[in-house]
Amino acid sequence: MIKRRRSKIVKASTVRFGAPHPIAVQSMTKVPTTDVARCLRQITKLAAAGCPIIRLAAPTSADTAALKKIVDKSPIPIIADIHFSAARAIEAIEAGVCKIRLNPGNIKDRKDILKIIAAAKAHGTAIRAGVNEASIRDLKSENVPENKRVALMLREMKKYVRFFEKQNFTNLVLSAKSADTVRTIEINRAIAENFDYPIHIGLTHAGLPQDAKVPSAIAIGTLLAEGIGDTIRVSLAADPVEEIRFGNEILRSLGLIESTTPELTVCPTCGRCKVDVIKLAKQVRKTLKGIDKPAKIAVMGCIVNGPGEAQDADLAVCAAQGKGYIYKHGKKLKVTQEAQLLKALTEEIEKL
Ligand code: SF4
Repeated sequence: MIKRRRSKIVKASTVRFGAPHPIAVQSMTKVPTTDVARCLRQITKLAAAGCPIIRLAAPTSADTAALKKIVDKSPIPIIADIHFSAARAIEAIEAGVCKIRLNPGNIKDRKDILKIIAAAKAHGTAIRAGVNEASIRDLKSENVPENKRVALMLREMKKYVRFFEKQNFTNLVLSAKSADTVRTIEINRAIAENFDYPIHIGLTHAGLPQDAKVPSAIAIGTLLAEGIGDTIRVSLAADPVEEIRFGNEILRSLGLIESTTPELTVCPTCGRCKVDVIKLAKQVRKTLKGIDKPAKIAVMGCIVNGPGEAQDADLAVCAAQGKGYIYKHGKKLKVTQEAQLLKALTEEIEKL
C-alpha cells in the first residue's frame, strides 16, 4: 500500500486536491476554446473516460468569454490555462473557472499578480502556481549546470509561495515542470519536502504516445509510488482521452485506484509454450471488451508457471499439449481440448 503524503486540502469546485482525496487525472481540451460546442463534446468524452477536472487554454479575451458558456454547461469543473496575461487570468476567474494555472514568473508586474490574487480570493478560485524549467530566467540567461537546476527551480518556487502566503492566499497547488524525467522526479521530491500544498505532476511537452508514455510513466509513477502527487497529467500529442486512459492506468498499476474493468495477464511466452498464447490472448481481450466489472484473467502458455499465476486470477487458462486447464480462484475447474479453449473460457467469464 502506498502511503500518500499529506498536505493542505485545496478545493476546486467539486474536486479536492490532497490526500485522502483521490488523485485527479486531468487533461486539456485540444480544440479552440472559442468553439464552445466542440469543447463541450470533448469534455463530455473526457468525463466519461474518468477525467474529474479539465483545463482549457485561454490566450485571448474571446477565449475567456467562451469559458463562461463552457463553465455553465460542463459536466466537470473547469481550469483555465493562463500565460503572460493578468487580464486573461482575471477574466477567467470572473467567468467562473474553479482554478487557474499560472506561472507567476510569466507575469512581469507584481502588482498584476496582486490583482489576480484579489480576484481569486473574491471568487474562491484555486491557483496552480508553476515553475517551468525552460522558462525561469536564470536557466535561460546562464549556462546553468544540470546539477544546479533543481535548486534554482526550488528557489523560484519558494519565492512564489512566500509571495502568495504574504497575501494570505493558500488556495494553492504547486507544480514544477521539466522535460527531463530525472529532474521532474528530483524537483517534485524537493517540493514535497519543502511545502505542504498539493502537487501537480507531469512532464512538459512529453511527445507522441509511443515516445511519451514511458518517460511519463517513470516520472509520474516513481513519484506516486513515493506518495507524492495529488493530481497528474500525462501530456500526449494525441486525443486527450488517451491521456486520461493512460493516467488512470498508471494509478491502477500502483493500486491507487480500483480497477473497474477486467485485467488481463498474459505470460510473455517462451519455448515451453503449448499453444499460440498471443493469438489466444488477443481473442480473450476481445471477449473482455465492454465488460465494466473488475476481474483478473490470466492466459498462460504452459503448466510450469501457469498454476502459480492462476492463484491470483479469478479465471486462468494454462495450456498443455493439445488441451488447456481452466482455473477459477486458484482451483482447477476443467480440462478442455485446445480447439474449445476460448469458448470454455468465455463461458466462465460470462458466469463470473
Ligand atoms: S507460463 Fe510457461 S510458456 Fe509462458 S513464459 Fe512462463 S514458462 Fe514460458
